Amino acid sequence: MNKKFIFPAMILTALVFGVAGGKIASMSDGGMDWFVTMCTLLGSGFINLLMMIIAPLIFFSISSGVANIGSGKNLGRIGGKTMLLYVLTTVIAAIIGLVLVNLIQPGVGVSIVPADTLATVVNVDSLVGSQKTVGEIILDIIPSNVINAFAKNNLLQIIFFAILFGLFLTQIKEDLKVTMVKFLNSGFEIMMKMTSAIIKLTPIGIFGIIAKQVYNNPDLGALFSSLGMFILTVFLGIGIHVFIVLPFLTKVLGKVSPFKHMGNMSGALLTAFTTASSSAALPLSMEATEKRSGVSAQITGFCLPLGATVNMNGTALFESVAALFVAQTYGIDMTITQQIMIVVTALLASIGTAGIPMSGLVMLTMILSAVGLPLEGIGLILAIDFIVDMMRTTANVWGDSCVAVIVAKSEGETLKI
Ligand code: ASP
Repeated sequence: MNKKFIFPAMILTALVFGVAGGKIASMSDGGMDWFVTMCTLLGSGFINLLMMIIAPLIFFSISSGVANIGSGKNLGRIGGKTMLLYVLTTVIAAIIGLVLVNLIQPGVGVSIVPADTLATVVNVDSLVGSQKTVGEIILDIIPSNVINAFAKNNLLQIIFFAILFGLFLTQIKEDLKVTMVKFLNSGFEIMMKMTSAIIKLTPIGIFGIIAKQVYNNPDLGALFSSLGMFILTVFLGIGIHVFIVLPFLTKVLGKVSPFKHMGNMSGALLTAFTTASSSAALPLSMEATEKRSGVSAQITGFCLPLGATVNMNGTALFESVAALFVAQTYGIDMTITQQIMIVVTALLASIGTAGIPMSGLVMLTMILSAVGLPLEGIGLILAIDFIVDMMRTTANVWGDSCVAVIVAKSEGETLKI
């Protein structure tokens, strides 16, 4: 089959199997258990494989990237540009969200779900309890135990250690340095080879994830209708950011074809969408950005792992829509100063958000408390978070990759797009 049709064909098959499986299961009590087991095996097996390679991939890519970039001056320049673009795109995303939520007003007239109904869906207290202050978020970046950071897949801490490792590597004796750089480069090559092999399984993994999702939620329609306007607002905002703002910036600042790059990234974006995890999509986006679009290994290895943990355009957009949505449902008017505060906290919250499913929703508590909105408001969004999570994660991954392309071009690289 033509490679282009593999993903659409798999998604269609998954939808058909998921719906049919759900129907048969509702008629024959428990008769479809084997189907769920099979989908879980395919979907979770694929996600496990991705999660398995993330920590070593990040360590080797960042440390070898930093060591190869060489001097602290080069690193400072590339790092500075990268962070500037990350902050710029995130703030634009948050503002798009704010404008749309003010225009569409999705929260007006939505009834508030009583707290005890929520408690049956998820433990709201545990979410609220996990909110962090800005100081705690910053402190969290420094690992008190490196092994623990690896064991827990704590990507920000691994990045912090890997940057220091790469930086100090440039300061040791030449012969030792050469050996270590060789080791790190080899480690990175091995991880990329492993990534390429796992990527071949993407269509099968995505089939498992979608079929199970559809099987378990045959009544998606009812869920969507109650919070439809909220979903639509996020969807519209993400659409504007993904298809207009980011391609525009990539075209103007990077002088490359953004949509060709988007085509190269299709597998990574689809994985981001289905897994709702930037971290899970990281190996695929690294491979696509480097091998297909032609960004150097140093810049890919530096920008993307960093972006997967700190740059979340889609999450920032979601946070500002969600905060205002909560205010609207409670009939609370937000002043312009409070709205600016939302953009600023959305930026900070998105930086602190981990690249895993639903962590953006947890960070929403930080914004709600910063502007004095009722924390129970997140309960409204809980039921449909999985769908907006899929959208925002796609924007998160796309945003990182566009920045990597722009930075690569600004460093004089010749790309394939
Ligand atoms: N799921 C998102 C991601 O991995 C984070 C979020 O929940 O907003 O990028």
